[in-house]
Amino acid sequence: MSRSAHPAGPRHGDVLPEGHYAAPPADLNDLDPRVWARTVARDGDGVVTVGGLPVTRLAEEFGTPAYFLDEEDFRARCRAWTDAFEGADVFYAGKAFLSRAVVRWLREEGLNLDVCSGGELATALAAGMPADRIAMHGNNKSPDEIERAVAAGVGRIVLDSYQEIVRVAHTAERLGRRQRVQIRVTVGVEAHTHEFIATAHEDQKFGLALADGQAAEAVRRVLKLDSLELVGIHSHIGSQIFDMAGFEVSARRVVGLLTEIRDEHGVQLPEIDLGGGLGIAYTPDDDPREPYEIAKALRDIVSRECTAAGLAVPRLSVEPGRAIVGPTAFTLYEVGTVKELEGLRTYVSVDGGMSDNIRTALYDAEYSVALASRASSAEPVLSRVVGKHCESGDIVVRDAYLPADLAVGDLLAVPATGAYCRAMASNYNHVLRPPVVAVADGGAREIVRRETEEDLLRLDVG
Ligand SMILES: *Cc1c(COP(=O)(O)O)cnc(C)c1O
Repeated sequence: MSRSAHPAGPRHGDVLPEGHYAAPPADLNDLDPRVWARTVARDGDGVVTVGGLPVTRLAEEFGTPAYFLDEEDFRARCRAWTDAFEGADVFYAGKAFLSRAVVRWLREEGLNLDVCSGGELATALAAGMPADRIAMHGNNKSPDEIERAVAAGVGRIVLDSYQEIVRVAHTAERLGRRQRVQIRVTVGVEAHTHEFIATAHEDQKFGLALADGQAAEAVRRVLKLDSLELVGIHSHIGSQIFDMAGFEVSARRVVGLLTEIRDEHGVQLPEIDLGGGLGIAYTPDDDPREPYEIAKALRDIVSRECTAAGLAVPRLSVEPGRAIVGPTAFTLYEVGTVKELEGLRTYVSVDGGMSDNIRTALYDAEYSVALASRASSAEPVLSRVVGKHCESGDIVVRDAYLPADLAVGDLLAVPATGAYCRAMASNYNHVLRPPVVAVADGGAREIVRRETEEDLLRLDVG
């Protein structure tokens, strides 16, 4: 492609990215509501604002890089899920992003909480989440984690192996408890998503398979143990899923197991959990389902299958993580260097990178980005936003159009970084993990503070 044939397109290179970035957007200053949190806008000066606060002021107060989380959006998404799933239970998957403030919001909005480690359990309990609203997950919970969960009185433990059935039963017995449990099954569905984050096809570490009879065997073993109360079956088929078909197959197979359990044991289990994994928009190309559509599809299939099998419809639960917190936050970076590679592309280095967002390197995740500290009418340039780490795969946004006048000191905002970014952040290169700043009612406060070099050295006891 020649420059003259594509005057507003990439200045360098013949290889265009696919999808959203195959052509520059009509206006680089646009903030597409599909990828930006609810209260994000541009003010009269062209500066991006969240909750009415300009990012230029937020950067001065909190520094960069930093995650800014729109509390109003978070709470609205919680309510959209609980409204859509009225009469069912919504468990927020804490691994997406967890802090004490998040736990308080969940508690206030009537959600339950999934945890999958002692650390997540401690955070949930420290912020006052009632134990009976907590579910404990994980494919290798330690004896200590099991003991703490049972002792706290968590509402359910999701069993993931034969060994764990015995461990949880012994612990409950020793503590004089009867622990409510679900069994996690793998239903043989490969959700339409990146293969490293698909979890329900059979060749993987999670759950007990329906197909080879291990799930049915786990049910037999649990039903024999007085210290365990089997309340339901759990299935989680993957992450960043857009297509409801996988959930429908999963629901059908889980109901099939409930039917077998009734026929073999004469008991009807009262609950099924269909997991999380609902996709969000990372770029304007993504078209996620709304909670009410998801609720309707799942309820329809479950009630249809139950009616056909002559089962009472069990209580349904779901576990969205990304779909609640993902869209509520953006990461704000400062531009440090701009390198034009003749015939290739422009590399824009920011003051963070794979330590605050590993998803691009790990999953080939796509993100979008906007110049946030000002508007620009300069021509779009095909760019790559990279971090400051000693790794050429340290890419934040693989393909992005940014204005040709982008300069050192400009602020860039990457939307949809609420889930699995701070949660997966590392100290690679001894870079300090950024703060999470909650913005609400025209005010901003750190809910997770910025890490300091003192924090790093405190762990280094050599
Ligand atoms: C990760 C996970 C979730 C949440 O997944 P999202 O993609 O964030 O919705 C829910 N349930 C289980 C068991 C999980 O492992």
